[in-house]
Amino acid sequence: MAFNPSLLLGAFLLLLLVSIPITVHCKDHTGKSFDFLHHLEGCHKGQTVKGLHALKRYLQKFGYLNYGHDHHDSSKNRNLKHANNDEFDDLLESAVRAYQSNYHMKVTGILDSDTIQEMMLPRCGVPDVVKATNAMSSRKMKQSKLFNTTPQYSFFPGMPRWPPSKTRLTYSFRSSAKVVGIQVLRSVCSRAFRRWQNVSHFTFQEARRGATGDIVIGFHHGGHGDQYPFDGPGNTLAHAFAPQRGWFHYDADENWSTNPVNMTQVDLESVAVHEIGHILGLGHSYDRNAIMFPSFSPGTIKRNLRADDIEGIRALYS
Ligand code: ZN
Ligand code: CA
Ligand code: ZN
Repeated sequence: MAFNPSLLLGAFLLLLLVSIPITVHCKDHTGKSFDFLHHLEGCHKGQTVKGLHALKRYLQKFGYLNYGHDHHDSSKNRNLKHANNDEFDDLLESAVRAYQSNYHMKVTGILDSDTIQEMMLPRCGVPDVVKATNAMSSRKMKQSKLFNTTPQYSFFPGMPRWPPSKTRLTYSFRSSAKVVGIQVLRSVCSRAFRRWQNVSHFTFQEARRGATGDIVIGFHHGGHGDQYPFDGPGNTLAHAFAPQRGWFHYDADENWSTNPVNMTQVDLESVAVHEIGHILGLGHSYDRNAIMFPSFSPGTIKRNLRADDIEGIRALYS
């Protein structure tokens, strides 16, 4: 048979057509996160650098900058201007310092390489509690004197908790995106709940079929109706709400796995244990080993509650 270029072209087009849907669904799971931060390394107060407004948005999202909800016009405009410009001013410097202090880094106020590396890690979407405003309770003080360590756990502002009578919590599943089968999710979450059940006064049970539990778990893409839109692959992995809201959402755009085998996959159970901590009332911990530490490296498994997590939940409900 003679060589027929149109046949080859046809085959090529067919191949292209077949591969298009695959390309569309195949997300960029490079594990890189918050890439805008990369070129801000070395920035410090007094500079104006393109992209600094994105850092301000990041620090605002995670609790380090607060432009408030002042309806006074001049203050509102000032806040808006600050949030959208690229100026590294006093306010931004103190936010960077608070971040560095929380994460036990050298407090320089400069966007050094360590700070940038830390900020680029994928993380939980729940804002951090800035330590200065999270005064240590007398119990914490006593504990830290006793063990000669400073507890690193935190609570949400106002210490919201489940009421003392509410020790049996039910959970149900409702997703707007299909990522894993319900049986897989059910067994992942059941194991994660058991870890908290073993160290607290709570018991957890799946709600009866069709009923909405105290805790509702699901996968969602992008904006999903709770004012905290997800951000596609990487960056924010999941979030959950303080008591007694009970919402725990996974970002459906991550490469979720029950047993990660490479650096792009994120372990469902590890993240579930962390988010359940929020559901029960724990904020972030700055003990790197703690389950409640805000950032999480894809490809790793971190499912065991640590002393800091256990002390935190017991202090909250004592
Ligand atoms: Zn979190
Ligand atoms: Ca994400
Ligand atoms: Zn959500």
